[in-house]
Amino acid sequence: MSQFDRQQINASNIIDYIEDIFIHRGSESYLGEKVSVAQHMLQTAQGAEQAGASDSMIAAALLHDIGHYANDLQMSSLDQGQDNLHQQAGANLLAPYFPAAVVEPIRQHVMAKRYLCTVQTSYLVRLSDASTANLKLQGGLMKPEEVDAFEQQAHFHACVDLRIWDEEAKDPTKEHPAFDYYRPLLEALLAEHADISTQGSAIN
Ligand code: FE
Repeated sequence: MSQFDRQQINASNIIDYIEDIFIHRGSESYLGEKVSVAQHMLQTAQGAEQAGASDSMIAAALLHDIGHYANDLQMSSLDQGQDNLHQQAGANLLAPYFPAAVVEPIRQHVMAKRYLCTVQTSYLVRLSDASTANLKLQGGLMKPEEVDAFEQQAHFHACVDLRIWDEEAKDPTKEHPAFDYYRPLLEALLAEHADISTQGSAIN
């Protein structure tokens, strides 16, 4: 049970709220994989860091599945044949506090999965069983016009990179940093975004 009420989240407690998810609900749920969702997100961030990604992309990797825990749709809806749209829930949770370079790859990571499965058969066959089962609920393969539109949008490369680290981050034997390791990075991005938002409102 979380100690946080989602309605009470603000810039001062958002990182504590996220940490609470990693420590409690995220480490207790597996969503059909061999790693917990917390392990999975930490390994995704590790993959981003090892690839030399920017801080924004490491944060996007770290937080990409956080929407499973900040969602009006039940996590169990996936088991009941309904997409829980966790990518939207996660992006909506984070959008007031983090830059678009963090939020948009999260919002589009399911689109990126559909895209990669469509354009690369080798990616489709590498999907975990759970991810394959969810693909259909998430819209299945893309139509050619969807492929074109996805390739044209501003965060295309970031979305694809994130989804590649995502699928590789499911190894129960792999060691990875704990959430604490990423806290300074999140705090810096949060402060940077607050500065930009303040400047923006002063100008407008
Ligand atoms: Fe994931």
